[in-house]
Amino acid sequence: MNPRPALSDLPSRFDLVVIGGGITGAGILHEAAAAGASVLLVEQGDFASGTSSASSKLVHGGLRYLKDGQWRLTLESVRERNRLLRSRAGLVDPQAFLMPIYRGMKPGRAVMRMGLAAYDAMGGQWRSRSLTAQQALQMQPTLRREGLLGAVAYEDARTDDARLVLRLVFEAVEAGAVALNYVRVGEVLKASGRVRGVALRDLRSGATREIEAGMVINAAGVWSCALPGDPGGAPTLRPLRGSHLIFPLGRLPLQQAVSWLHPRDRRPVFVYPWEGVALFGTTDLDHGAADPARPEMTRDEALYLMEGLAHQFPDLRLSLKDAISSYSGLRPIVAGGKDQPSAESRESAIWSGPGWIGITGGKLTTFRLTARQVLHLAARQLPALAPRAETPLASATPADSERVRARYGSAYVDWLSRSPWAGDRDGIAGTPYTWGELRWAARREAVLHLDDLLLRRTRIGLLLPQGGAALLDRVAAVCREELGWDSAQWAHQRSRYLELWRLRHAIAP
Ligand SMILES: Cc1cc2nc3c(=O)[nH]c(=O)nc-3n(C[C@H](O)[C@H](O)[C@H](O)COP(=O)(O)OP(=O)(O)OC[C@H]3O[C@@H](n4cnc5c(N)ncnc54)[C@H](O)[C@@H]3O)c2cc1C
Repeated sequence: MNPRPALSDLPSRFDLVVIGGGITGAGILHEAAAAGASVLLVEQGDFASGTSSASSKLVHGGLRYLKDGQWRLTLESVRERNRLLRSRAGLVDPQAFLMPIYRGMKPGRAVMRMGLAAYDAMGGQWRSRSLTAQQALQMQPTLRREGLLGAVAYEDARTDDARLVLRLVFEAVEAGAVALNYVRVGEVLKASGRVRGVALRDLRSGATREIEAGMVINAAGVWSCALPGDPGGAPTLRPLRGSHLIFPLGRLPLQQAVSWLHPRDRRPVFVYPWEGVALFGTTDLDHGAADPARPEMTRDEALYLMEGLAHQFPDLRLSLKDAISSYSGLRPIVAGGKDQPSAESRESAIWSGPGWIGITGGKLTTFRLTARQVLHLAARQLPALAPRAETPLASATPADSERVRARYGSAYVDWLSRSPWAGDRDGIAGTPYTWGELRWAARREAVLHLDDLLLRRTRIGLLLPQGGAALLDRVAAVCREELGWDSAQWAHQRSRYLELWRLRHAIAP
């Protein structure tokens, strides 16, 4: 999608301006562009740099929501999961789960079986089953053995959250939308009691511009109550921090995901194989008034996570020194006055006024439903924004399920077959990525900073020790050739990346 348009190149008016380039904004952009509306999305950081690159990366109904009686959320999520498994195969893939059952555990096997039967029924497929202790240990020999009665097995799905956002953004741009990263809405503009547009600032060039809009949508996640010129009506948010640890699969071997209750507070936690590593999470804590741009894992969270791991896999004797990296994100939850953070509802909230809709909360999994709901509401004020009719899905073809095609699109696959760089098919240091993917991302995917490339276009910075510092010389050559960075620019980008990695992904000793 390079080169990125300057603010001065934009038309003076769009049907729709979307504030925020996370999954919510990207989903709305995608649906609105498909419906033929003229639409602009602006993101103050990189696309998916907020919560949408820091989720647990599960596309799931959420069994725990079922337990809390959130039937509608579970049903919608299960249906969307199934739809994504078909339409985005290769980017959204099935994930088998094992939930061990121990003596005296609540809920016990009977209740779990009932819950899973309801979960299966919602998804229209019978995937869950009961296992004996022996069968469970065959599948996962490292489980805690003491008191083990058996397990239940079921299926959900996993994704790469940042890549999902990026695919939606780039597909929308191919359909005629405009999407700009590193552009902030400095003010929401109003006239005669109606929102009429936004004042933008390009954080790279410093350029400013006012854009008129038929409708403005606030999809700014945990920032959605803090927009200058906010016309009001937003619910009070309770940002809840969730942190994850990443381990090498060699230290924490997994055949499938394992989910269990944390011994300290009975919250569900899980670990699963993701992009060649073991991803373990998560916490659920009030972030309070701390800076939403700095959701860093605290030492207490790291210890809580390690306590959970030691409980389930005592023989592995894992320590924090084994972890490769960590990351934290903020759930944009609507404050419902519950004592415990985990008791707050995960449903989304929508509010509106003349020329204006706000949306927050919700899940990665249900982005498409959220987008359609928002656009139906927007169409009451501006009929051009009505989403197109729902189309039944064709089943995935083998080509659709190719990992790279699902992530980068067909143009990448064509380009790779003609790429003159001999090393482009080489894998990057045991990760699922190739140098070709990195080069393509640098060339075509609106990369402005090194962290865009290593933390979101690819996830190499999470998968390798020290954020992949050992590879940086070869990455520098790609950036020089594709982004034209000279040695001063590279030195700046390198130190910015390593500092960011130290703050947000290193494990405190
Ligand atoms: C720890 C954790 C685990 C989770 N796990 C799952 C999971 O496994 N499955 C699931 O379905 N869901 C999960 N979720 C929920 C899901 O990740 C979030 O609901 C979702 O990512 C929120 O997306 P968003 O687009 O609303 O917010 P964000 O991704 O935060 O996007 C909002 C964007 O708005 C931008 N912005 C703010 N102000 C401005 C401005 N003035 N101008 C321009 N841009 C602006 C921000 O920079 C930000 O990028 C999880 C959440 C967390 C925190």
